[in-house]
Amino acid sequence: MEEQANFKSERSTVRRVPKRAHYDAATVFSVLDANFVGQVAFQLEGQPFQIPMLYGREGNVLYLHGSKKSRIYQTLARGIPCSLGVTLVDGIVVARSAFHHSVNYRSVVVFGRCAPVGDPEEKLAVFERFTDAIIPGRWAECRPINAKEAKVTGILALTIEDASAKIRTGGPVDETADYDLPIWAGVVPLETTYGVPVEDQNSKITCEVPGSVRELVNDK
Ligand SMILES: Cc1cc2nc3c(=O)[nH]c(=O)nc-3n(C[C@H](O)[C@H](O)[C@H](O)COP(=O)(O)OP(=O)(O)OC[C@H]3O[C@@H](n4cnc5c(N)ncnc54)[C@H](O)[C@@H]3O)c2cc1C
Repeated sequence: MEEQANFKSERSTVRRVPKRAHYDAATVFSVLDANFVGQVAFQLEGQPFQIPMLYGREGNVLYLHGSKKSRIYQTLARGIPCSLGVTLVDGIVVARSAFHHSVNYRSVVVFGRCAPVGDPEEKLAVFERFTDAIIPGRWAECRPINAKEAKVTGILALTIEDASAKIRTGGPVDETADYDLPIWAGVVPLETTYGVPVEDQNSKITCEVPGSVRELVNDK
């Protein structure tokens, strides 16, 4: 499928502080690729739901997976409109006034519809991409997925129809007069990092931390 260069549409247009909005594929993808958990929203019989799910991206498609018995799988597989949101908080913005406190962030809102991936070979390829999207190189190190596991797990391809990214960076934006106040202001950066890997206590054979995990945690 050809990749779209711009995802702006009527429904994906940010109205408040539009200078923070981006619709180009490179920015939208960069935020999506910096995370792997999204909130998937949909409406069912007039009731809105939003459910956290893992995703892996390839081009304009976000792959979701889940038990074929789950409500979210069965609902989204029907191709109803859905939305996926991703947020990374990069810092707390501490202002001189209570009013101007804020956060630095990168967020994305995606709109589209899902279709189930039925072809067994395509499904296998998606399982591999999905695993490697979270821990690059892990698929090749694992016990391969078996037929029963593949059968009970559904894969959904969410094609991005339109989307928006919103990014805030920088310090507080206070009222001009407030810069003369003796009140500390600035940014407290916030980072999510990997810790030291802990081996499963139930392992019957002690193994070295594999390459994919070492790479992920930067040899911690
Ligand atoms: C971590 C975080 C905390 C926030 N806290 C608040 C808060 O407490 N109060 C508040 O008013 N706002 C908050 N915002 C901003 C909020 O997400 C909206 O951007 C804001 O409500 C303005 O939306 P709007 O009226 O322009 O757009 P809406 O009319 O609500 O939405 C129109 C379209 O704009 C796009 N859009 C809107 N917001 C975002 C976004 N954040 N990222 C990507 N696309 C977006 C979507 O495509 C949406 O369909 C926060 C944002 C983040 C990331």
